[in-house]
Order: sequence, then structure tokens, then C-alpha cells
Amino acid sequence: MEKFYLTTAIAYASRKPHFGNTYEIIMADAFARFQRMLGKDVFLCTGTDEHGQKIENLAIEAGITPQKYVDGVAGEIKGIWDLMNVKYDHFIRTTDDYHVSAVKKIFKKFYDKGDIYKGFYEGWYCTPCESFFTATQVVEGKCPDCGRPVSQAKEEAYFFKMSKYVDRLVAHIESNPGFIEPESRKKEMVNNFLKAGLQDLCVSRTSFKWGIPVDFDDKHVTYVWLDALTNYITAIGYDPDKSYDDQCEKFKHYWPANVHIIGKDILRFHTIYWPIFLMALDLPLPEKVFGHPWFNFGNDKMSKSKGNVVYADELAEAFGVDGVRYYALSEMPYNSDGSITYESVISRYNNDLANNLGNLVSRTHAMTKKYFDGAIPAPEASDALDEDLKSTVIAAVKESAELMGSYRVADSLDSIFSMLRRANKYIDETMPWALAKNEDDKPRLKTVIYNLLETIRIASVILSPYIPETAEKIFSQLGTDKTDYSTVCAFGALEAGKPLGEASTLFARIDEKKFLEEMEARRAAAEAAAAPIEEPEHEAEIGIESFAAVELRVAEIIACETVPKAKKLLKLQVDLGYEKRQVVSGIAKFYTPDELIGKKIALVCNLKPAKLCGVDSFGMLLASGEEDVKVVFLDSGAKLGDRIH
Ligand SMILES: [Zn+2]
Repeated sequence: MEKFYLTTAIAYASRKPHFGNTYEIIMADAFARFQRMLGKDVFLCTGTDEHGQKIENLAIEAGITPQKYVDGVAGEIKGIWDLMNVKYDHFIRTTDDYHVSAVKKIFKKFYDKGDIYKGFYEGWYCTPCESFFTATQVVEGKCPDCGRPVSQAKEEAYFFKMSKYVDRLVAHIESNPGFIEPESRKKEMVNNFLKAGLQDLCVSRTSFKWGIPVDFDDKHVTYVWLDALTNYITAIGYDPDKSYDDQCEKFKHYWPANVHIIGKDILRFHTIYWPIFLMALDLPLPEKVFGHPWFNFGNDKMSKSKGNVVYADELAEAFGVDGVRYYALSEMPYNSDGSITYESVISRYNNDLANNLGNLVSRTHAMTKKYFDGAIPAPEASDALDEDLKSTVIAAVKESAELMGSYRVADSLDSIFSMLRRANKYIDETMPWALAKNEDDKPRLKTVIYNLLETIRIASVILSPYIPETAEKIFSQLGTDKTDYSTVCAFGALEAGKPLGEASTLFARIDEKKFLEEMEARRAAAEAAAAPIEEPEHEAEIGIESFAAVELRVAEIIACETVPKAKKLLKLQVDLGYEKRQVVSGIAKFYTPDELIGKKIALVCNLKPAKLCGVDSFGMLLASGEEDVKVVFLDSGAKLGDRIH
């Protein structure tokens, strides 16, 4: 069986990944499922990158060990991958013992070979990226990868002789046009980095401890990128002590990888350093490195500091897992950055999933129930319209597969959904409800319904890599076990005469206005909670005797009603134990009478009586706030009439 080994970048275990960091694994899972559907022996590897100074710092801040810190975050990451219905074959953590031991051996192997030597590093360093840069790479004092400021650093370090392999790498890139995808990124790598003169890479650090120690010099820890990149081979059993021919079967079967799927920001590490490390290990290079664009929020890069972070698990609560998967896969362009807005998520969900796909399935199911008692009819009388539908379906099967094979996932989905739109149009053209009125049209009606059911079945087979749960639901509604890819190259595998399964709603429409209002309310609440409290203006100091002049007593609200003609006011009857009084208060916007009756409050008893909107008020209750008023309620055990002091 032909193998297909694909990997994602391993997620940095610094914090819970947001939607922009979850897209990649969803896409990789769709590619993996697609290749499995084609009958290949697929191995999908993902995991977490757990070493480095940033994690060491975060652990110190959190007051726990780095290991404990990454255990927590790795668990969260794995949880989201699982929630997103990702079927990975291996989840590697760079703190796994087999990986740690292999990295130590790889480092030693490079050193023994003369590819790694000891020297001093002096240069520009970006702490968040844990990368050194030359003066020509630094952009106006900022890191070329993340745009944050860099600083000068000098320390004893080991270096990898990149220059030794540059010519071989350039030759490889130029003679393998598919090696870097999209093609447009290839030029940038070759011209800006390789041909500009590749510096030797600093591959060890001494300024922190949280990393894989260099075996023969334990003052040094291995540079995180050398550690992280090698996960692609250690995950499938690579043993640095053995030659390629003596590696385990698993490694020899899967390596080289068919594709490394990564974000465009780390393309340099994967198309320059990684191939050179592999050359130094005498291993073949991966077939392809696919650097996908980013998902931004609106026009901004998603980041915690900008407060525009969207999480996949939160989206899944509203749109379901397949709703999130569909959005991620359909909205992301191949070459330029995508942008997520709640409006576009809702629009995709309502238009494509609920209307185009969901309605097609529910209408067709309902008509089969109504006209054929729920049994799949055999086609009898055909028409030219049928041929158009069938050829559209067969063309979409072919086209979507070709696009998926060339990593154009959004275009591939687009092709499938165009086919679904064609099927919806077929309903309007053939008008089954009109055919059903005339017994002579019954043979034609059978054909129309059969063609629709078969189109839905084929669509579900080819949609299964993208929205697997939905595909399963549709198969069960159709009552079919014809779910193999081999059944979709021709039209007509659906078996007539069989009963359909139970109908169920695939995607319930979402009310955009209501959803956006809820999101806005949630966002505002989070913002208000996070906003710093300003120092208020203070009153002049008073003595205790001034305070004592205010006669505050415990009272219970025994009755309460609204005041006609005064929307803001509530008229309260309060019991002080020794007497009952009427008090008017401007809290009608914040409380209903029911919420107040039976509560104990602090009453200012010696306030001069007043008339509010014509109603007498004898006293005042205490409350906080102007915009959002909260009454000061007392403990239910407080004794009526007691002085508050
Ligand atoms: Zn940076």
C-alpha cells in the first residue's frame, strides 16, 4: 500500500492555542483523511514543542516547574485537537524520553562529524522567537519574523556549519519545483537567505536551562529549533546510531515525509535548516514543505494583547465541530492571509451548511418519505437535465480531488459546494411536487428523487475528509453503506429499494443579530472586568460625629410596586420593626418588585421627607453605582430597627 506521511508544526506549549493556531491541524487532518480515503497508508504526526527560554520564564511566573507547566498546556492542546475530531497517528512531545535521547545523539553525531564546532556568539537575538539574526536580517531594529525588538547577545556557543551544505540545498530547491509550496515563497528563501550568504547557525544556549542538554558539555542546552525540527524523524523511530538501511521498518516505510504543513512564518527553518540537518544525517529530504498563510481577526493578527483572540472550542459551542472545521477549511486562501469575522462565520454556516447542504438533504429526504414511503426509488424516465446534473457531480468529484492533492483546500470545497448548488437548482427545474400530482409523471419523479439522493450520497463521501461527522449523519439518513471512495467515480451506486434512515437536522440556522448581540455583550463584560479601576475623586475628611448624624437602620422591604407615570421609580413599603414607612427609590431600571420583597436594606431614617413625582418618600435606601445600580442588601439575620454604624 502506498504510504503518505504528513506532519504539522508542533505547537509551542506556551499557552492554549487560539483559532489561528488551530487551523493548521484541521487542515492537516483533512489532508490525512483525504489520502486515507484514496486508500493510502497515512501517518499524521503532530505534537508539542516544549523547550526554550520563554517556557522557562512562564513557568517561573506561574511558580511551577517547566515540566509541570508544559504538561498542563500540552494537555490543553491535545484536548482541542481531539475536540476538533483530528485523527492523528502520533502526538509527540519534545520532552518525551525517546526524543530527548535521540536529540542528544544527533548533536553528538554532528559534533563528531565536524559539522558542529564551539565558538562565541555575538549578535541580535529575539527572545520570543528564540532566534539569532544578522544585522542584515534585522528590520529597523526589529525581528524579521515577529516584528518585536531584538537585543545584542554574546555567549559561548556551538555552531553548525551551514555553509558546507548551501550549494547542495540550492541545487535541490532548484531541481525540485514542488519542494517549497506555494511557489511564490521559494524566491524569498533562495534570494533573501541562501544566496545572501547563509551564516553558520548557533545551535546551543547557556543562558537558560530548560532544554535538552548537550551530552558532552552540559553547560549548554540544544537550540530549540534543532530540538523541535528533529521531531519529524524521532516520532517514527529514527535512531541516530544506525545508518539509514539499519533503521526500524516504521522509519524506512514512512520517511521521507510527503509533506510538512507549517505556517509561512517558520518556512525558513523548514526549507533551510531542516534540509541541511537531514543532509548532515545522510537522510533523504521531505518531498514538500507547504507554508500556509495566517488567519487574522478582521484585519489584525490575532493576539492576546489585542484582545481579539478567538478559540476553536468557543466557536464549536455555537457552530458545532463541523461548523468550525468547514469554516477554517473554506475561508482560508492558499496564498494570502485569511481573516475571521463572526459575520463571515455565520454567513458561511447559514448559506453553505444550513441552506445549500442542509436544505438539500432535508428536502430530498422529506420528498422520498412523502412520495415513496421512504424507500429509494429506482430511476425510470430520464431527461437531458439529468445528464447535466450527473456530469457536474462526476466533474466535481474529480476536480475536488485534484485540488486537494495540490493543497488547495478552500478551492476544493468550493467545487463540492458548487455541485450542491447545482443539485438545488435541479429541484427547481424538475419540480418534483408538480410531477407528484400526475400518475403519468411517476416514472419521471422516481428518476428525479433517485438522482438527488445519489448526488447527496456522492457529496457526503467526498465531504467526509472535511466534515466527517456530518458525512456520517447523512450516510445514516440515506441508510447506505456505499461510503467508499471507489463508489463515487461513477453515478448510480446507491441501491434502489432500500429504506432511508431517520431524518435529522444537520445544521440549525443561526440568528445573526442575536448571536452578534450575545458576543458583544460577552466581549463588553470581559472588557469591563479587565478595565483598570480609576482612582475616584474623594470627599473632605469627616469626624465620627458627622457620620453619626446620619441615622442608618435595618429595614425589611415588605411591599413594592411600580409608580405609574414615573418609569424610574419604585414605591417601597419598609418595616423598621417599630414602625412602617413608605420610601420611593429610582431603581426601577435595575430591580423588579419581586427581587426586592423580603430583602433587608440599610435605610437613612432621618432624611427630610420628600415628594418624588408626586409620591411621598420618608427616607432613602443605600445603593452603589450610577450606570449599574446595586442595592446594599443586609444579612437576613440583621435585626429590624438596629442602628447601622
Ligand atoms: Zn521574533
